[in-house]
Amino acid sequence: MFAAPEFIHGLASLIYPPTCTICSASVGSREYLCADCETKLSRIVAPFCAKCSEPFDGAITTTFCCANCAHRKLYFDAAVSAYRSRGIARHVILNFKYGRQIHLRHLVGRWLIAALDDSRLRERRFDAIVPVPLHPARQRQRGFNQAALLAERIASRLGMPVRPMLQRVRFTTTQTAFDRSERIQNLRHAFRLRGNADVRGLEVLLIDDVLTTGSTLSECARVLKENGACSVYAATAARA
Ligand SMILES: [Zn+2]
Ligand SMILES: [Zn+2]
Repeated sequence: MFAAPEFIHGLASLIYPPTCTICSASVGSREYLCADCETKLSRIVAPFCAKCSEPFDGAITTTFCCANCAHRKLYFDAAVSAYRSRGIARHVILNFKYGRQIHLRHLVGRWLIAALDDSRLRERRFDAIVPVPLHPARQRQRGFNQAALLAERIASRLGMPVRPMLQRVRFTTTQTAFDRSERIQNLRHAFRLRGNADVRGLEVLLIDDVLTTGSTLSECARVLKENGACSVYAATAARA
């Protein structure tokens, strides 16, 4: 017997009433956070850096670039996030990524979709949605690529397919222990275009879960642009 996914979902929520993934308060069907936890998310609001979305306190009304972006070459046109990767958001993303809680892709995917409302992305038409790839060994270990799962959420929202045009060819050690220049060095030649991918003339939307320093997104954007992509914008569910 075949049952529609909605039916199964409905049945499951009768047996296991949906609860907040953080505090276990009961929530509505297809909700993952209660209203209280939802208000604790740190939403990024203007003013923020036009290039990397780093927010600033204060009243800056003109378009500006932060000192971090001004002092280095970043190959993406802009990287957009709607939320900060702190507190609840950080906790949810870590559970999604390392805790095998794959269902959290729906919640994390919503934060990513919120980034599409930003004026830097809203009016653009993209030709390709490209997830930041994991090294195959890492993907086997984790069982999935979180960026690819999130790219699928965006793709179904925009009604276009995910195009995994990049591959990770170097198994890099974890970036967390490195400072910025070490991160960039560690990522050199980590990515390349997949064998038959053709990005010439394409406007690319690059997808990852979190922006930390921007080095990974920049390195992916460099490879895409060197192979002829005419623009590379990035969206992440959250940023450091
Ligand atoms: Zn809650
Ligand atoms: Zn910046």
